[in-house]
Amino acid sequence: MAYRFDTRAIHAGQPSDDATGSVTTPIHQTSTFGQTEPGINKGFCYTRTGNPTRSALEENLAALENARYGLAFASGMAAIHAVLSTLSKGDHVVSTRDLYGGAWRIFTKVFSRYGIEFTFVDTTNPANIEAAIRPNTKLLWLETPSNPLLNVTDIATCAAIARDKQITSVVDNTFATPVLQQPLELGADVVLHSTTKFINGHSDVLGGAVLTNDQGFYDELKFLQNAIGAVPAPQDCFLILRGIKTLGLRVERHCSNAEILARYLLAHEGVKRVYYPGLVDQPSHNIARRQMTRFGAIVSFELDATLEETRAFTRRLNLWTLAESLGGPKSLFCHPATMTHASVEPEVRRSVGISDSLIRLSAGLEDVRDLIDDLEQALPRATAFASREDVSEFQEQVAS
Ligand SMILES: *Cc1c(COP(=O)(O)O)cnc(C)c1O
Repeated sequence: MAYRFDTRAIHAGQPSDDATGSVTTPIHQTSTFGQTEPGINKGFCYTRTGNPTRSALEENLAALENARYGLAFASGMAAIHAVLSTLSKGDHVVSTRDLYGGAWRIFTKVFSRYGIEFTFVDTTNPANIEAAIRPNTKLLWLETPSNPLLNVTDIATCAAIARDKQITSVVDNTFATPVLQQPLELGADVVLHSTTKFINGHSDVLGGAVLTNDQGFYDELKFLQNAIGAVPAPQDCFLILRGIKTLGLRVERHCSNAEILARYLLAHEGVKRVYYPGLVDQPSHNIARRQMTRFGAIVSFELDATLEETRAFTRRLNLWTLAESLGGPKSLFCHPATMTHASVEPEVRRSVGISDSLIRLSAGLEDVRDLIDDLEQALPRATAFASREDVSEFQEQVAS
């Protein structure tokens, strides 16, 4: 029977343990497995190749994205590395332009050295993808909503363009999570996650995942997972499985808090611009409505301020933690120009719209009124709203 999302999150890959009845998946903290005769084992021989706790996680992650196959990695970057390692010298990749800084770095500073070529385009306009495709294009790399400007790419249209040209389409679904967006259902070939973020959800572990229905791609990636060896430890797999049990609940609350924060910032005189796909005035809003069930926990905004004033603002926040990363219970904020996107060349940063006064918020799970109070005392000018006890007024401009 096909269970619904929240049921799958708790049950997929996690039956009670056969040997003991343990309700929770055991941590198989072992590097190797005994064999009865050379080559005869109980399905596992060496933890880099496979481990039962990791298998449980991989089966679970696949179920979240409605995928047949799942592979877990030691980090999101390890997952990206494995996917890129399916390419050969001379191959070409078309990618979203405003993407995760670490992805930009491994594309332009590592894989470009191996003779793999990249073209970065604004994928919010699918015609740009068509124009960038060459005879040697093998991969289309999409990140949506993008980091940190929350641009939304139409997955179904872009995946169809790729399929037409026999190009593998990959969607980094880290920001949306499978709760809000299911790229495989929209026609993408491969979904990638940094499970470090919402999927684990507790800011206490690193992980990555790749999910697909394509058996050929899975077989190749499974070979690479073992050949390269960037696998997650059994204890980390256990922690991620533990986090996933509340993924659906957490993401709903993250989204509610983010929606209210976006509306609050929009009304604030000291804020020049708010980036959040849930706001009805955003260019990305219609596509976001079509392919996402809600609009996510990340809100970016530009202060009406210089770099120095922006730095001063970051020092005034108390409850919000200045940190890289996102998707945990504590609300985090960062300054992309000097933190997450510092590895992107200044002129590239400016051309994609990452200004020196841009702030990215990851709305956590706290009481949103405390989050707003802290922003209010730190922002350069007062809000137009007198009372922040009643947050309902901030909800009006967010579509439901
Ligand atoms: C964090 C992140 C990654 C990299 O994941 P790590 O687990 O930090 O290695 C990749 N893509 C996106 C969108 C991310 O936010």
